[in-house]
Amino acid sequence: MIGFDLTDEQMTYMRAAREFAETQMKPYAAELDRREDAFFDWNIVHRFAEADLLGLPIPSEYGGPGVDCLTEAIIAEELGAGCAGITVVAGSTWLAVISIMLVGNDEQKARYLPRICGKDGRLAALASTETEAGSDIAGMRTLATRKGGTYILNGRKHYITNAGLADFYVVFATTDPSKRHAGINAFIVDGDSRGLSIGRIEDKMGLRASRNAELILEDVEVPAENLLGEEGTGFLVLMQTLDTSRPSLGAISVGLARAAFEAALAHARRRVQYGRPLIQNQGVSFMLADMATDIDAARLLTWRAAWLTDRGMDSTRASSMSKVNATETAERVCSKAMELLGAIGYSKDLPLEKLLRDAKAMSIYEGANLIQRIIISSAL
Ligand SMILES: Cc1cc2nc3c(=O)[nH]c(=O)nc-3n(C[C@H](O)[C@H](O)[C@H](O)COP(=O)(O)OP(=O)(O)OC[C@H]3O[C@@H](n4cnc5c(N)ncnc54)[C@H](O)[C@@H]3O)c2cc1C
Repeated sequence: MIGFDLTDEQMTYMRAAREFAETQMKPYAAELDRREDAFFDWNIVHRFAEADLLGLPIPSEYGGPGVDCLTEAIIAEELGAGCAGITVVAGSTWLAVISIMLVGNDEQKARYLPRICGKDGRLAALASTETEAGSDIAGMRTLATRKGGTYILNGRKHYITNAGLADFYVVFATTDPSKRHAGINAFIVDGDSRGLSIGRIEDKMGLRASRNAELILEDVEVPAENLLGEEGTGFLVLMQTLDTSRPSLGAISVGLARAAFEAALAHARRRVQYGRPLIQNQGVSFMLADMATDIDAARLLTWRAAWLTDRGMDSTRASSMSKVNATETAERVCSKAMELLGAIGYSKDLPLEKLLRDAKAMSIYEGANLIQRIIISSAL
């Protein structure tokens, strides 16, 4: 049985998230987009914490709202319509806590999950990517060496969202690079660990409200009890985490596309050329029809992936499809919206050029889209 009714609770979350996006995100989005790279605005984190948005997927026994994946996607779309750059600060926190929720033991969950649910506003981050190991995760070089009751971590992660800001990290490191996938492990690393620092802060094209930086690990001692799951299962932990999280990334992209579409629709109704509003030209109205159709299709794929995840069904293919479709929809819709706004769409006075820059990032991270196509095609 398939239904498209949202529950009262989901409608309440949707309305609250929309209100939050309007009042707590949109007014700050342009300013944060223009910020210097080293600057990070902790006010956005505190606003998220006040609204209980940082620990969204965390179950109530650990202090979070414990929303399911579909509800998270509904909320993520609203936040994405407010500002994708601000949203990914929370989204990267969800990513890290999801891996602890999926494979953490009771003690790890009790120690780390409640930290994200407080009103003091703490972030988490997930660190896998290295300069020489992006899509090819199994090629990572960050080394974990067992020494008695601890692992010593050495290496450099790059492009990590929330690096230098997170209260704790889920760091992926290998005990033996020659084993490739089978050598990878996931560790929870406290943000104040000795030997942990950040290097270069990225000067990004979009998502500029969030920070991406190098995470440097120099002889970082991690207690063996901070190993997530069994030794050698880190690759699996990462894949499961990304499968669970991609619908939210897709949903942020749907929200972003919606923001661009709404700007284009309003403009096409208002702007008069040749004696009539733009929208009265069939060529223009067909463009808007295509944009609206694309957005609906992306939302449905995203919700299906989330729905499968919530039922514990195999969501890998659906999750990758939703990510590819929603992120590319966002790029396409932003580009068409810019075309419809003409010169003013290209100006920094309006948010459209920011939306297009933000959209471009969504197809790269949490697994670049060509990699998602490999996942989809191998499941055909
Ligand atoms: C905004 C942003 C935030 C990020 N946040 C994080 C984070 O919090 N934590 C983290 O660990 N990482 C993060 N990343 C890194 C991100 O996960 C990687 O950029 C991504 O996995 C791709 O790796 P890469 O950049 O090294 O590209 P590469 O792996 O070098 O790939 C380059 C291109 O080649 C394609 N490609 C690669 N291999 C193949 C193949 N076999 N067949 C076909 N095509 C292929 C890719 O799809 C891509 O289009 C972030 C990146 C961005 C842009």
